Amino acid sequence: MAIEAALEKRSNTERGEGAQCEGLIFDIKRYAVHDGPGLRTVVFLKGCSLSCAWCHNPESISPRPEVSLHPERCIACFTCVKVCPNQVHQFGEGGEHVLERDRCKQCGTCTESCYAEALVMVGKKLSVGQVMEVLNEDRAFYEASGGGVTLSGGEPFMQAEFTTALLQSCKAAGLHTAVDTCGNVPWAVIQKTLPYIDLALYDLKHMDPGEHKRHAGATNDLALRNLRRLSKSGVPIEIRIPLIPTVNDSPAHVEAIGRFLASLDNIVGVRLLPYLRLAGSKYASIGRPNRMPEVDTPTREHLETVAGWMQRDRPLTIFINA
Ligand code: SF4
Ligand code: SF4
Repeated sequence: MAIEAALEKRSNTERGEGAQCEGLIFDIKRYAVHDGPGLRTVVFLKGCSLSCAWCHNPESISPRPEVSLHPERCIACFTCVKVCPNQVHQFGEGGEHVLERDRCKQCGTCTESCYAEALVMVGKKLSVGQVMEVLNEDRAFYEASGGGVTLSGGEPFMQAEFTTALLQSCKAAGLHTAVDTCGNVPWAVIQKTLPYIDLALYDLKHMDPGEHKRHAGATNDLALRNLRRLSKSGVPIEIRIPLIPTVNDSPAHVEAIGRFLASLDNIVGVRLLPYLRLAGSKYASIGRPNRMPEVDTPTREHLETVAGWMQRDRPLTIFINA
C-alpha cells in the first residue's frame, strides 16, 4: 500500500521548509481517474466537518485514528485481548468479537500485534516530506496523462496547516493540484491555499439549509457562501453532487441547484456521483451506524434525466460517474 510505503520513507524526507509538518492520512490511492484530470494520486486526510448519511468513506469522519475490525480474517489467537492495556477487546460465548471502543486510546498495540490483519489502525501520521516522496514516484504518469495530485478526505481543510504545506510542496515540485472539499470550513483557511490550487472539486449536497443539516450534520450556509467567494477567485471549480434518491434528486431541487450554479463563475464542470451501497462493511468495521442501508443506487437513465433538469436555465458541462 502507498501509505505503508510512505511510512518507510521517514529517514529520507526530513528536509525543506514545511516538509516535517505532519498530517493524519488514512489512504493514498494511486492511478485514480475520477478526482481531477488525468491519472492522479489521491491523498485522503482524516477528519470532516460534516457527517453525511451517505458518506462512502465513513472512516474519514473522525479526526482521530480508529481501530477497524475485520472478523473474517480473525484466527482467534486472542492476542488482542492479552495486549490491550484498556480491556477494549472481548469475545462473547458465540465467538463474536466485541470492542468497547469508548475505552480505546488508539495506542496501536493491538493492531501491531494482530498478524492476521483482522485489526487495522485507520489513520497514520505522515510528514509532508514522506507524502511527497510517494507523489514524486508517479511524476511520469502525471506528465503523460495531464494528471497530478488530489487532496481528499474527509475534509482536507480540517488539517489546514498540513494541507497548505503539502499544496505548497506540490506546486514547488511542479505538480498539478486539486482539492476535494465540502466547503464547510472558515473562508480564511481556503483563501490561504488559493495560490497553490489548480482545481477545486467542490461538493454540493443540498440547497435547503434544514435538509442539509438533517442529512449532513450542519447547515449549508458556510459552504454556499464559500462557494460564491471561490467562484470569484479565479480558481476553476468542478462541482460534485452525490445524488441520493429521495434526498436531493427531485426535479424542483435539481432545478434549484441548476439556477444557483448558473449564477456562479468559473464552473468548469458538474459531476454527478450516484449513491453506492459499497460502504456498508466499512461502517461495521469501525462500529459506526450505517444510516442509509436501504437506499438503492440511481440508474444511469435517472442520472441523465437529472442532468437535463439541472440545465433548464443554462447549459452545463455535466459528467456522470456511472
Ligand atoms: S489478534 Fe487479531 S487474529 Fe488474534 S484474536 Fe485478535 S483480532 Fe483475531
Ligand atoms: S489501540 Fe490500544 S487501546 Fe485501542 S484497542 Fe488497541 S490496544 Fe487497546
